Amino acid sequence: MSLRTLNLDDALYGYLLGHSLREHPAQTALREATSGHPHAGMQVSPEQGQLMQLLVRILGARQAIEVGVFTGYSALAVALALPDDGHLLACDISDEYTAIGRPYWEAAGVAHKIELRLAPARATLDAQLAGGAAGRYDFAFIDADKTGYDAYYERCLSLLRPGGLLAIDNVLWGGSVARTADDADTAALQALNSKLHRDERIDLAVLPIGDGLTLARKR
Ligand code: CA
Repeated sequence: MSLRTLNLDDALYGYLLGHSLREHPAQTALREATSGHPHAGMQVSPEQGQLMQLLVRILGARQAIEVGVFTGYSALAVALALPDDGHLLACDISDEYTAIGRPYWEAAGVAHKIELRLAPARATLDAQLAGGAAGRYDFAFIDADKTGYDAYYERCLSLLRPGGLLAIDNVLWGGSVARTADDADTAALQALNSKLHRDERIDLAVLPIGDGLTLARKR
C-alpha cells in the first residue's frame, strides 16, 4: 500500500514548523495569547494558516469571507496575505472571543482590511447576497458550528466568483466521520462531505491536514 500521510510525532512536527513557518510576530503573539484559552483547540494550526495565505496569494484574492473567527488567528493570516486594499468579511457571534484578536490585527497593520460582523453568519451572508454581492468574492473559509456548515457552504458558493476557492475546516472531525454518527455535528459533516463529493459545481480536494480541510474551487 502506498504511503497515505505521515504520522507527525512531536519531533517531525517541530521539524516541519522549524523549516516552513513564516509567521508575522503578531501571529506568534496571538497564538501564544490564545494557547491558554479553554477552547484553544478551535484555533487553526499555524501551518494551516500559512497554507491559506499561499492560497489567497495564488488566487490573487482581494475579497474574502471568514465564517467563524474565534480569536482571530486565521483572519489575521488571511488579512496579511490580502493586498492593502483587500477586504475580509469576518463573521462571528462572539464579541468576547474576537476581542482577544483585534489588538493583534491592529499590531500587524491589517485591521483596516477586516470587517468584523458580530451577528449570525447566515444573516450576514444573506445580506451580502441581497445586496448584490454574488460572484464578488475570491476566497472563503468556513470554520464555525458544524450543523450550520451546509447553509454557509451554499451561501459562500453563491458569493464566490467562478474560480474562487472555498476552504472548510474540521471535515474529518477527529476521525468520527468514518464511523456511525451518533451526534448532530458528525452527521452534518458526513452529509456535507457526501454532498460535496458529487457536487458538480466544484472541483474538490480533501486534505488530511489538521482536523481535515476541504478545498472546493467554484467552477
Ligand atoms: Ca476548526
